[in-house]
Amino acid sequence: MRVPIIAGNWKMHKTAGEAVDLVRELAGLVAGIRGVEIAVCPPFTVLAAVAEQLQALGGGIALGAQNMYWENEGAFTGEIAPGMLRDTGCRYVILGHSERRQYFGETDTQVNKKVHAALAHGLTPIVCVGERLEEREAGTTEDVVRGQVQGSLAGLTGRQAAGLVVAYEPVWAIGTGRTASASDAQQVNGFIRELLRGMFGEEASRAVRIQYGGSVKPDNAAELMAQPDIDGALVGGASLQAGSFAGIIKNT
Ligand code: 13P
Repeated sequence: MRVPIIAGNWKMHKTAGEAVDLVRELAGLVAGIRGVEIAVCPPFTVLAAVAEQLQALGGGIALGAQNMYWENEGAFTGEIAPGMLRDTGCRYVILGHSERRQYFGETDTQVNKKVHAALAHGLTPIVCVGERLEEREAGTTEDVVRGQVQGSLAGLTGRQAAGLVVAYEPVWAIGTGRTASASDAQQVNGFIRELLRGMFGEEASRAVRIQYGGSVKPDNAAELMAQPDIDGALVGGASLQAGSFAGIIKNT
C-alpha cells in the first residue's frame, strides 16, 4: 500500500528564525502520527537552519527544496546543484511547479533534465503537473497533463518512476481558495496513474505516489485523501502555519 505524503511548499516565505519556529511547533503537533510521511520545502536560504532543527527534533519530518538546476557544478550564477541539496540534508525536490513554468519559463524538457539529475543524486523529485483555467474550460485538461507527464518523465526506467512523487496541481486552484472537487481531482489523478501504467508498467504505476495540490486545507483534506488515487497533498498557503498544516496531516 502507498504511504501518503503531505509536503509543505513554503514558496518565497520565512526567514531562518520564522522557519525554525514553524518546524519546532509542527513537530510538537504531529508527534505520534503514523502512516503518513511529512515533508517541508523551505526556500534555499533557510534549508540548512531547518535541516539542523529537524535533525534535533528526531527526524520525523523530511526536508525538500523547491527547485534546482541539472548540472553538477559550474558557472551558473544563481543556480543550485543537486549535490548541494543532498549536502544540506534534502530528500525531496519539487520540480516543474506551475509557478516555475509560468513566471520563469520552465519547459517539460528542462523539468525532464532536472528529474534525471535529481534521481542521479539520490533525491526524490516531486514532479508537478496541472492545467490552467482556460485549458480546463476548453476541455483540454487530459491533453495538457498527458504532455506534461510524458515530457517531464521521458527516459526514466520503471524502477525510477516507481519511486517518484507526482503532484497534480490545477493552476486555477493554487492560492485561489478554489479547490478541485474530490471527484475532479480523483479523475485526473486516476488518469495520471493510467498514463504511468502505459509508460512504465503496472508495478511502477501502483507504487508511484500522486498528490493533489491547490487550496488544500484541514477541512477539505479528508475528502480529497479518501480518493483511491490521491496519495497525499502538496500544500502551499496552509503549510505556512503549524496549526493548519498539522490539521491537514491529521485528516489524511
Ligand atoms: P496553495 O495551497 O496555496 O493553493 O498552493 C498550492 C501549491 O502551489 C503547492 O505547491
